[in-house]
Amino acid sequence: MFLISLPHSHQSELRAVRERLDRAGCRYQSIALADRVQVVAFPSSGHEADLAAELQRVRGVERVVRLRSPYCLSAREATEARTRVTVSAGLEIGGNEFVVMAGPCAIESYGQTRQIAGVVKGAGARVLRGGAFKPRTSPFAFQGLGHDGLEVLRGVREETGLPIISELMDQSEAAAVDEAVDIIQIGMRNALNYALLRDVGRLRSRRPVLLKCGIGTTLDEFLCAADYILCEGNPNVILCLRGTIGISRESRSSLNVADIPALRKRTHLPIIVDPSHVAGAWDLVPAIAASAVVAGADGLLVEVHHDPSGALCDAGQCLRPELFHAMMHRIRLLAQVMGRTMASAPEPMSRGEAHPFSDFCLEAPPAAPAKEGYSRVGLQAREAAL
Ligand code: PEP
Ligand code: MN
Repeated sequence: MFLISLPHSHQSELRAVRERLDRAGCRYQSIALADRVQVVAFPSSGHEADLAAELQRVRGVERVVRLRSPYCLSAREATEARTRVTVSAGLEIGGNEFVVMAGPCAIESYGQTRQIAGVVKGAGARVLRGGAFKPRTSPFAFQGLGHDGLEVLRGVREETGLPIISELMDQSEAAAVDEAVDIIQIGMRNALNYALLRDVGRLRSRRPVLLKCGIGTTLDEFLCAADYILCEGNPNVILCLRGTIGISRESRSSLNVADIPALRKRTHLPIIVDPSHVAGAWDLVPAIAASAVVAGADGLLVEVHHDPSGALCDAGQCLRPELFHAMMHRIRLLAQVMGRTMASAPEPMSRGEAHPFSDFCLEAPPAAPAKEGYSRVGLQAREAAL
């Protein structure tokens, strides 16, 4: 497979590329992006190298990339730089900032959402999460407030200034969700719903889309799913790992931490980890979140509730405000060690709760004299922790 890139304005050059591909008997598809056209072509075997060299010589062609992966537009080689998805003024995902998105699993009421939004914003989260349309295993479980939930999100965004991420489950809701949110979430259950993926790719808003990995989906299938959105002209795709089927019964699903650097090798798209749906239990969330930062993720999607015992959805896995605050404090230190920035917490952390990392080896090192070679960042992190 070839990926040929040209600037948008070069119509005659694009014609020349098409004519050359037609002569070679290649099947191909052109994708119009905001600033360029990409042509995905399937040459018959045998003459790829010659054809690639010839296409590279066509005036206006910027790059010709030969790919052996089943996915193409999401492949690392498809762009020179990593993709940074702009969510709102001053907020990008995929840049140097480690971005935390947090909030309830489901929107339950205005008061609930407003209260949790205050908590997550106070702890340094940059985006408010919350499902208005909920995919539930049982049809008798709370299904979300639907359009009323979107109204709640709209109001809370206005009050707090936090951008919103919420799930789109069905094509018929695409316009309403697109209008209400800053990031459209495609959930695990729709991870391979190709008609829905094409639809979000076609939205004129080119709204950022956070695509979750399916519960039994390989990385190849995951990146092919991302291609379904990209090939419709929406470049703003964010990948989200939320665990897959595993053999352990300790957590709701299994996250292979190696998938994070493996994905970074394979794709230019930003990578988010959802530790809440990996864990299924609140006390496992901080350690999974910490491993995601260290393994090179670009951010987190975390469930938080001010009253977990009363939560209508995923009660067992949402963090109480104090634990979320404490987790964010440690995540910020780790992000710093990893050379990333992270928004500071406008609200001071409450000291009343047991620390979510207290059983893990992530406590600040004892205040012994620093050994030679101890990194400056590490020292700063330690000082900040004390
Ligand atoms: C969610 O984020 O609330 C959700 C339903 O997640 P997933 O699609 O990963 O199960
Ligand atoms: Mn949930």
